[in-house]
Amino acid sequence: MKFHSFLIKYGEIGIKGKNRYLFEDALVRQIRFALENVEGTFEVYKTRGRVYVDCVGDYDFEETTESLQRVFGIVGICPVVRLEDHGFEQLAKDVVAYVDEMYPNKNQTFKVEARRSRKNYPMNSMEINSELGGAILDAFPQIRVDVHHPDIMLHVEIREDIYLYSQIIPGPGGMPVGTNGKAMLLLSGGIDSPVAGYMIAKRGVGLEATYFHAPPYTSERAKEKVVDLARLVSRYSGPIKLHIVNFTDIQLYIYDQCPHEELTIIMRRYMMKIAEYFAEKDQCLGLITGESIGQVASQTMQSLAVTNAVCTLPVYRPLIGFDKRDIVKLSEEIETYETSIQPYEDCCTIFVAKHPVTKPDLERIQKSEEKLKEKIDELFEEAIATVETIIVK
Ligand code: ATP
Ligand code: MG
Repeated sequence: MKFHSFLIKYGEIGIKGKNRYLFEDALVRQIRFALENVEGTFEVYKTRGRVYVDCVGDYDFEETTESLQRVFGIVGICPVVRLEDHGFEQLAKDVVAYVDEMYPNKNQTFKVEARRSRKNYPMNSMEINSELGGAILDAFPQIRVDVHHPDIMLHVEIREDIYLYSQIIPGPGGMPVGTNGKAMLLLSGGIDSPVAGYMIAKRGVGLEATYFHAPPYTSERAKEKVVDLARLVSRYSGPIKLHIVNFTDIQLYIYDQCPHEELTIIMRRYMMKIAEYFAEKDQCLGLITGESIGQVASQTMQSLAVTNAVCTLPVYRPLIGFDKRDIVKLSEEIETYETSIQPYEDCCTIFVAKHPVTKPDLERIQKSEEKLKEKIDELFEEAIATVETIIVK
């Protein structure tokens, strides 16, 4: 069956009351963005507590539903048939034809679930259910009614027009991006940080990202990989403003001045500081990292505390309690995994010590950082001044 319209179901939580329209507007905007690259002409609109996508002319069903499945806030995508109201008899005929075409195998159970939003319709929902149910039973001797666990749940919504659907393709849930401000993702080329960005975006938060590279120790290709990852995440989050920071001189300076076992932790503190600078400049309300307790030396409870201590913005770590294999599974689901595992050097791994501290002490680290005071401000300014900023979508 060829559908020309989708009814979009969205979660009700958190959208009641006077903010509902903000939620719906953001949802419409994100759907439009998701369909931008799908071939076809789509009209996305909201009307009386419903969001619809109308497909004008030809379009690819699979590609369209796959794109919609990446829009946070959607809980269900229902391919819908829209009928003009030409009286109940015509409706019964159309419903029977719909069942016939959609379900060639009639050896199934069904239930009609009518909803009457237009109260001047001459029958109430109960009557519509039983009359349409009767018409279907008359038409197909094999089909049976099951009101508790039907194979086919036939929804009939009486509005200005009448909407018929029985298929609900699951959406990702969450909240439409843009309903919950913006945050700055520290995006590396690894497996974790793209997943972390995805998870926060799923709660309605728009993303910016900062990537630190260290040319010539890291290659152009490593940078391209991060841009690719940002692009993959943007399929869910919408466009991402990506700040690419040249971290080489800061890294070399830390390497020269500080104890090597403290390199990673000090470096991570400067990454946070720089990311926070761009975050505050663009009104981001928090930082996001892909850290998880105990994953590596720089992610022990003590290390996380020391890293955290440089930030004034809240740091969101959605993967904090995840095992690596759970993160890998998620990254496969959101399709960032294959890109993440491409083998390009990371700026952190180049200067790592053999035995990094696992229980750093804040005062000691701050003391080590004092050795940087001569040049670090200047290097910080330079890193900020030479940032390369691109919009990834
Ligand atoms: P990732 O999976 O994302 O590679 P990881 O397991 O390699 O994480 P770390 O290298 O310790 O762990 O990094 C922890 C977090 O710090 C990352 O998830 C990311 O948010 C941030 N980060 C690390 N390196 C960079 C970088 N070069 N640029 C931007 N952020 C980074
Ligand atoms: Mg990494």
